[in-house]
Amino acid sequence: MSLDLLSALGEMVSTESDLLDKHACDWSNVNRQRPRAVLRPRTVAEVSSALKLCHAHGIAVVPQGGLTGLAGGATPRAGQVVLSLERLKGIEEIDADSATMTVLAGTPLETAQKAAEGAGLYLALDIGSRGSCQIGGNVATNAGGNHVIRYGMARAQVLGLETVLADGTVLSSLTKVMKNNTGYDLNQLFIGSEGTLGIITRVVLRLYPRPRARRTALIATADYGATVRLLRRLQRELGDVSAFEAMWPDFYRYVTDHPSTGVKPMADTHPFYALSEFQGSEPDRDCTRLEECLARAIEAGDALDALLAQSEREARSFWTIREGAALDLLPYLINFDVSAPTAQLGALADRLKANLTARWPEGLFFVYGHIGDGNIHLSAWAGGAMDDVAHEMDEIVYGEVRRIGGSISAEHGIGTLKRAYLGHSRSAAEIEIMRRIKTALDPRGILNPGKVI
Ligand SMILES: Cc1cc2nc3c(=O)[nH]c(=O)nc-3n(C[C@H](O)[C@H](O)[C@H](O)COP(=O)(O)OP(=O)(O)OC[C@H]3O[C@@H](n4cnc5c(N)ncnc54)[C@H](O)[C@@H]3O)c2cc1C
Repeated sequence: MSLDLLSALGEMVSTESDLLDKHACDWSNVNRQRPRAVLRPRTVAEVSSALKLCHAHGIAVVPQGGLTGLAGGATPRAGQVVLSLERLKGIEEIDADSATMTVLAGTPLETAQKAAEGAGLYLALDIGSRGSCQIGGNVATNAGGNHVIRYGMARAQVLGLETVLADGTVLSSLTKVMKNNTGYDLNQLFIGSEGTLGIITRVVLRLYPRPRARRTALIATADYGATVRLLRRLQRELGDVSAFEAMWPDFYRYVTDHPSTGVKPMADTHPFYALSEFQGSEPDRDCTRLEECLARAIEAGDALDALLAQSEREARSFWTIREGAALDLLPYLINFDVSAPTAQLGALADRLKANLTARWPEGLFFVYGHIGDGNIHLSAWAGGAMDDVAHEMDEIVYGEVRRIGGSISAEHGIGTLKRAYLGHSRSAAEIEIMRRIKTALDPRGILNPGKVI
């Protein structure tokens, strides 16, 4: 591919060395590769003209958002061009009566959250990378996060979408309505497609009334089974559980012992931990209801101890533990993100830990995650360099997940890192239909080639 071809795109093209380095990899930091050039369009028309040109000349384009992806989906290969959405950003409209906001795809999630809040509304999508990830990336990966249990995944927050297809066609379906049964839902096709079917340029997001009260509790339980009973009790008796996270005891101990975390609000000797958040409308009444419910849970044996955060700051410190940034400081950490029905997750976690420990007795295998959504994360550290162990670890973990009919990717996507295992969770017929859709929308295969399928 000649760079001269791209020069027709003018100022949006850059081959500056620092920029090529910055765009060489997503957060997974595997298979770093400087792209041939970085395209940074400022308008949808520029995205369209860039794709038109790349399509005409068969130039492979890798869409990039905030580069917080964990599956290698935004990492280029040799000779490919990156199209970064970082300049295509901004809140275009907040429509309070329709409870929607229209944003450009490169808008950081946190910026959109704050804008909604400023208008007295609430954007339910929330993930740990909120400061860096972009709305377009969230939609392209169908991000999950902390509030899925109450509001659903990114898919459920999207009402309208504008996408630029591989040949530069702008497909605009920026509807603000929930009800639109007029044939196939094309928007849903692009959600979770990881940049392989089109480049998302604008999104209409659904907003909710801003919760007036938010309470966060850190709870110790006897085991996984008791934790699930606790979750169901909280949902039954309070009805407004907006987050429910489980932490296996070695995870809690490691993270709270680590100096970078700086808090240990509850002793690390309990068998299991949960973190739950409740959104309500009447702060005092909600607090009393929650306290009474937790007291009943302790009496019934569904919980051993509970701490209710007394301030937003304390609630944040509970979340710091769950976000487990201390784990990321371990070199060569391998992260898994799998799902299965909640009833099976405890046994799955036990088997994974037992099998991995049998193979790497000196390793550390931490389990935590969104068990109400049937999703656990496993952060595995075998001690050695990643390349030596990654494949063997994938085989062990994804083999177990396949055996129980679970999903090898609950929220982070397939990218390149899980591509070889797509058939563990999707049938041959499903993968064939995915291929046909890809060919129909991107016949020259220029959009994010080698990703997902
Ligand atoms: C600390 C941390 C916490 C995280 N927590 C969560 C979590 O709780 N839940 C969760 O689901 N994920 C989580 N993630 C993963 C990551 O943040 C999400 O996958 C996020 O949605 C990626 O957005 P991004 O803008 O960074 O996309 P990128 O990493 O830039 O790209 C991701 C994929 O989307 C494609 N893409 C990006 N923008 C567009 C676009 N505009 N049009 C078409 N394709 C595009 C890329 O080609 C790539 O395939 C976390 C990551 C980190 C680092």
